[in-house]
Amino acid sequence: MNTFLPFSKPTIDEATIAAVGDVLRSGWITSGPKVAEFEKQLSAYFGGRPVRTFNSGTCTMEIALRIAGIGAGDEVITTPISWVATANVILEVGATPVFADIDPVTRNIDLDKVEAAITPRTRAIIPVYLAGKPLDMDRLYALAAKYKLRVVEDAAQAIGSSWHGKPIGSFGDFVSFSFQANKNITTSEGGCLVLNNEEEAKLAEKYRLQGVTRSGWDGIDVDVLGGKYNMTDVAAAIGLGQFAKLNDITAQRRKLAKHYFATLGKDFEKQTGAQLPPQDFESTNWHLFQIVLSERITRADFMAQMKDHNIGVGYHYAPIHLFKLYRALGFKEGMFPVAERIGKQIVSLPMFYAMNENDVERTCTAIREVLSR
Ligand SMILES: *Cc1c(COP(=O)(O)O)cnc(C)c1O
Repeated sequence: MNTFLPFSKPTIDEATIAAVGDVLRSGWITSGPKVAEFEKQLSAYFGGRPVRTFNSGTCTMEIALRIAGIGAGDEVITTPISWVATANVILEVGATPVFADIDPVTRNIDLDKVEAAITPRTRAIIPVYLAGKPLDMDRLYALAAKYKLRVVEDAAQAIGSSWHGKPIGSFGDFVSFSFQANKNITTSEGGCLVLNNEEEAKLAEKYRLQGVTRSGWDGIDVDVLGGKYNMTDVAAAIGLGQFAKLNDITAQRRKLAKHYFATLGKDFEKQTGAQLPPQDFESTNWHLFQIVLSERITRADFMAQMKDHNIGVGYHYAPIHLFKLYRALGFKEGMFPVAERIGKQIVSLPMFYAMNENDVERTCTAIREVLSR
């Protein structure tokens, strides 16, 4: 029997492991020179924009909302198909989440529905680039400009993705990335926020370290309510090793995605009723390769039968508005029909840097078998 193929797996090379060892032996294991170096390299990649690192891609979004001054009485529009963190941060700052349904082809928030959801209280949009696929960024920012809205891009899955050749993060308003273990590059846990200017960056530094404005021999002072969100040098050493491979990683994932399309064949959708993602080899980093199953099989059955073939399948994501916490706020079934249909049947096939074309073929053979039963 074949060995188990997970849907995702990080690849940490020996040089990175050695670099982590060096940090651990150095006597300085919290935020320090590695964090500074990682931020410097990220900033260069994002066209010189200010970048600050954090211990998650969740707190980056919360901090961006705080810097934008968003809180009680403000509405923030986002997608129901994301990790729950995207909507939770809106609640964390005391604002009101407003969902807009998704586009069935890209599975990202539908900008027409965003526009229809705008009210006089709307202050910001949090778009999510599911599987790494960006929105129409020109339309997104035209809409934000028209209604004077801030944008906090949840680009957690989109490092290495681009829009007309420009990296996601190198333009726009706030752009948040995650370096959680399954993301295209990881720091084990972590994230970074791209900001607009040094003033915002200074504020971000305060929010990530308890609001401390001044420290040293003269004593300390605190002027905003901050938390403890700093990245450690241990994590940054992993990030530096991963970041050096970003182009390789993105290229490998694009190659694997192409192989999925070629192996499944052009009649796959007609034969199985399942829906493939858009064929995009320019802008997306292929963080995930997701198909939407037809109603002929339940997601749980599909996942269980793939597991019998020793293949791991992921589920990203259940619609956020149907979670208990959100139902208690008044959201219910029927409100976002496209998200509900896709959120029920979407699955993520194995996709990670160390995978090879045989793994893709093995997965496709198993899918055909499971879906033809
Ligand atoms: C991973 C992820 C997050 C959360 O990032 P963490 O680093 O785990 O906090 C948020 N949104 C999306 C779309 C994600 O994929």
